[in-house]
Amino acid sequence: MKLYNTLTHSRDEFVTREEGKVRMYTCGPTVYHYAHIGNLRTYIMEDVLEKYLRFSGYDVTRVMNITDVGHLTSDGDTGDDKMLKGAKREHKTVLEIADYYTKAFFDDCRKLNIKKPDIVQPATGCIGDFIKVISALVDKGYAYLAGGNVYFDTSKLGKYYVFGDFSEEDLEVGVRDGVEADSNKRNKADFVLWFTKSKFDDQELKWDSPWGVGYPGWHIECSCISMKYNGEYLDLHCGGIDNVFPHHTNEIAQSEAYLGHEWCPQWFHVHHLVTNDGKMSKSKGEFLTVSLLEEKGYDPLVYRLFCLNSHYLKSLVFSFDTLDNTAAAYKSLVTKISRLDTDDKTPVDAAAFDRLKKAFTDAMDNDLNTSQAVTVLFDILKDTTSDSTKLALITELDKVLSLGLIEAAAKLRSANAAADDIPAEVAELVEQRKAARKAKDFALADSLRDKISEMGYIIEETRQGTKVTKK
Ligand SMILES: [Zn+2]
Repeated sequence: MKLYNTLTHSRDEFVTREEGKVRMYTCGPTVYHYAHIGNLRTYIMEDVLEKYLRFSGYDVTRVMNITDVGHLTSDGDTGDDKMLKGAKREHKTVLEIADYYTKAFFDDCRKLNIKKPDIVQPATGCIGDFIKVISALVDKGYAYLAGGNVYFDTSKLGKYYVFGDFSEEDLEVGVRDGVEADSNKRNKADFVLWFTKSKFDDQELKWDSPWGVGYPGWHIECSCISMKYNGEYLDLHCGGIDNVFPHHTNEIAQSEAYLGHEWCPQWFHVHHLVTNDGKMSKSKGEFLTVSLLEEKGYDPLVYRLFCLNSHYLKSLVFSFDTLDNTAAAYKSLVTKISRLDTDDKTPVDAAAFDRLKKAFTDAMDNDLNTSQAVTVLFDILKDTTSDSTKLALITELDKVLSLGLIEAAAKLRSANAAADDIPAEVAELVEQRKAARKAKDFALADSLRDKISEMGYIIEETRQGTKVTKK
């Protein structure tokens, strides 16, 4: 599989340190607010990547952090703590805020068919691990104490800007946002590993440390949580493109300084979602969340398809008009699938199955070309192969795409049956009977047929599928 690697700036062959095993890390949310759909684009594409790696036979361990402390409003080390700001806004404690928005995040993920990572670790649960790594960095001379805070000394590295495509001038942390430079820093790019003296003395969560009572910086948590669960060598690190600098640059700096060797050779970044007015999270003043899409009548899986229809390396422009087009495409896909004969007993045509599956894997192996992979779904439906083969293929490919196609088609069939004056209870029994027949539980299928008959409906098997009529 070829995958674009932000570290080498090229499409590289995906490799792993240990054959068949992928150690994967994805930066998690800062849980101070609802996730906007731009953030969720990243999680959707990471989910597809993870599922495709599993589909290709890899054993994947995916680790994700939850940032519930230490992320300041600037991705550098300035501004308020985002968590504290959320807590003040809602008159709650920081931990209540973290708990509430962590649940909200995973609710959104569930609606978008995003699988929960194997390991999800809140930062506040790993304070001892952060202290251990920071202490080692101080001992090795990579970190220094100044003005009560512990800083990483970027001048100790051979190369700090490892992603390379930035000019140092553009990136002067603390200067770029017009914020006053931190006079404790030896070098402009240095960053905080542990705060004890922040301008924000009302920090709610603090822990004892060798440098005084305080709290960790944001960047150190990802390095430590990754190393804790995935060990010294990581195969694949993922995140949004806005994390390349300073967050991922700093993660590499401190991890490699601590380990004394290269940490992660492959970096996968998902580009921004933008709206016509250039904002990432709002459209015409509305904060774009999954709940907002639902309120407006969109199935969250339509948004998933919207993301899959575009390459992850391109900025994606969001508008409700384009989402409407995607909703129409989703409906058309589901309608076509709902017309396939689920009772088709023809054996799956292995040659056709392999040919169409290969079209899918070719697309995905080509730098995760998800829009091409979606096109393959339409090609399957147009193909001359049997309905049983088509259904087997769609079931298989949707393990990766996770568009809920088979379920949505079954729902649509029941709804259509109901619309043909078949009561919902009868339609439900018809679906149950189909499932029973599929599972070869003919005794159950027969008893369901009798029940349907008692309710005044006749069930017949035809070439077009199961037909239900009133007696
Ligand atoms: Zn991170």
